[in-house]
Amino acid sequence: MQDVNIVAYLSPHPLDDDSAKEVEWVSWIPGFNHDDDADGMGVIYNDCNVLLYQSIEKQTTEIVKTAFNNLYPLFENHIIKGLFVWIDLFGITGNEHAIAGYHYDKSKPAHGEYQFNADQRLMAHYLSKNWQDLSANPKVLFTWEHELLHMLDHQLIEKASVYKSSGETSELYKYFILKFREEGFADLYYLLLGNFDEILSIEQAKTAFLKLNMDVKKKMKETGVFPEEVYKQYDYYELGPWLILDCLRSFEGGFHEEHIENALQKIGKKEAMPREEIFRIIQIALRMDIKTVLDYFKKLQLPINQVTEEPN
Ligand SMILES: [Zn+2]
Repeated sequence: MQDVNIVAYLSPHPLDDDSAKEVEWVSWIPGFNHDDDADGMGVIYNDCNVLLYQSIEKQTTEIVKTAFNNLYPLFENHIIKGLFVWIDLFGITGNEHAIAGYHYDKSKPAHGEYQFNADQRLMAHYLSKNWQDLSANPKVLFTWEHELLHMLDHQLIEKASVYKSSGETSELYKYFILKFREEGFADLYYLLLGNFDEILSIEQAKTAFLKLNMDVKKKMKETGVFPEEVYKQYDYYELGPWLILDCLRSFEGGFHEEHIENALQKIGKKEAMPREEIFRIIQIALRMDIKTVLDYFKKLQLPINQVTEEPN
């Protein structure tokens, strides 16, 4: 096992001299003590609250460590020296959908350093007693496995981001398609453990994708620009992992078909695959390049009678 430095830190820290201290920014924290500090420095400095800040950092660090260990075989051949999780306790980022994130643009794979963030809502879960109840918070429980898979996927995320920055409608559309791969890849671990929410099968995922895709194309035709609001629907989390499994059935000459069928049978029964099998599938999915993904999505949109078997 590599010696990896895993650090979760509050920033700005409530006790920093230069952090603007508004009690309401931190008083949302479950367990926050509203009594004044014994030295009269204000509630933010109350000893109980100081302990609370420390425990937030410590607990988050431990949870990330556990997720890292859960996925460790996947990281064996990677240089990983440090994982740094910025905890946004003050709610500065305000992304309404993501409770945590991987920052590919701030990470330095060549140095083995990777940057993440976590927000207030995730901390609120961590501070509540039953946050580990799988039936109540299935996704919350796998937050860091999801983000760590993004880290593993760094190269392709970076490549796909070029499509986004181009600003061209056709390139933005490709970025939208690639997003299903990106989030689908990060959610593979979750699905292969037999967890899923609204989408129950590959067929259902395909149908939902085709409907969404038709809407997007219609809007693009009408306005000439890519409808950015489509990102707010966040369908690629739900559909993505199923579509990746479908793509893997024919990937590399159909070599993995049987393996994927076994996985689908297990998932159908909400059973977890053996971990080494899960890691094998994730490793295969990591080999999918942008062309493979775009070709797969193109083929999905063809009428059934036009789909011919193409060599990979
Ligand atoms: Zn993600």
